[in-house]
Amino acid sequence: MQSPRDNAEPTDTTTGYSLRRRCEEGLPRAFAWLAITVYQLTGDWRGWLPLFTRTSAHLAVVAMAIIAVGLSHIEWPAQAALTSSRLILPASAGSGANRQTAEDVLVQFNGQDGRALSNSSAETIVRLAQPHTTIPKRPRLEVVTYTVEAGDTVQSIAALFDLQPTTIMWANPAIEDAPDLLRIDQEVVILPIDGAYHQVAEGDTLASIAEKYKVESTAITECAHNRLEPPTYPLREGTYLIVPGGEKPYVPKVVTTYAGAIPAGARGTGRFQWPVLGTLTQGYWYGHRALDIGAPTGSALLAADGGFVSFAGWTDVGYGYLIVIDHANGFATYYAHLSNIYVYEGQAIERGQVIGAIGSTGWSTGPHLHFEVRYYGTQQNPRAYLP
Ligand SMILES: [Zn+2]
Repeated sequence: MQSPRDNAEPTDTTTGYSLRRRCEEGLPRAFAWLAITVYQLTGDWRGWLPLFTRTSAHLAVVAMAIIAVGLSHIEWPAQAALTSSRLILPASAGSGANRQTAEDVLVQFNGQDGRALSNSSAETIVRLAQPHTTIPKRPRLEVVTYTVEAGDTVQSIAALFDLQPTTIMWANPAIEDAPDLLRIDQEVVILPIDGAYHQVAEGDTLASIAEKYKVESTAITECAHNRLEPPTYPLREGTYLIVPGGEKPYVPKVVTTYAGAIPAGARGTGRFQWPVLGTLTQGYWYGHRALDIGAPTGSALLAADGGFVSFAGWTDVGYGYLIVIDHANGFATYYAHLSNIYVYEGQAIERGQVIGAIGSTGWSTGPHLHFEVRYYGTQQNPRAYLP
């Protein structure tokens, strides 16, 4: 049987054939064709296959159009939830500031002593969704704990709570000397304000604590969290005090280094090169006076400059396997957490020479090089000396 569609092919192909007429005729014709085709094919299920093959592309387009139209009518949960928490705002804030974000309006709203503004001609606005966790900026009075998650660093946690990284270090003895020590699921003590956290020991006085952290004793007594009773502010042994603005001295780790004769000609060029190719996983800051360069275990470690090995071996101060190269010009470089050491103390080293292999020994959370540059014993920002 011949398809009626074929019979109904337009015979008039002249340019005068109007589009309108085409549309008017098209709809009934399409229905007729569909009805006849369905009638023809229901008798034989195999007949569906050619129909489906022929129309699948059209069906896909139609289905996508239906989905698109459907989605445009959906009220998404974020928006829906927020419409329920309506805020009454003055008409001026709502209508006069159409292009303002809801947050701007909220700030404006809160800025006026938090008093409800004229709501006679009130409008409602919705607050925009903010898909991130915000720690409220209002002052916290209590010490809280934070459980370390993957990817956290002392710096990222400090930023989360709007504190200095040192505040996080100084309240947590486990990471006080080595912020690299942060471990997943570790409970970190978070002070409400910047400063130090001191456990009262036998013989401590307000004056001695204040002196230790370089603050006035009134800073300690005036901190509401400490709940010290005037007029004598008695201290109880074992309790913790927040020392607002308090500082702990930075104590660089010291390793006993080679004391033998300096090999002849072992001297740095004064130009440093990167000791390993990798990704910078922690930069230089007050609590971490080094660069951490992440690289796979076993990666070749190169001497950043010429000199001689003044230390090569295991350390108990968190560095794990460590190499120290004295460049005989005031500079020394430290290479920590190594998996292998290829040099010995007193050995002359050339710039770029392979001296060991990257690892994760000591206080380390993954294979990386902890790289320090010291100038007459003082840790420098290595980044300033690298190309
Ligand atoms: Zn490090």
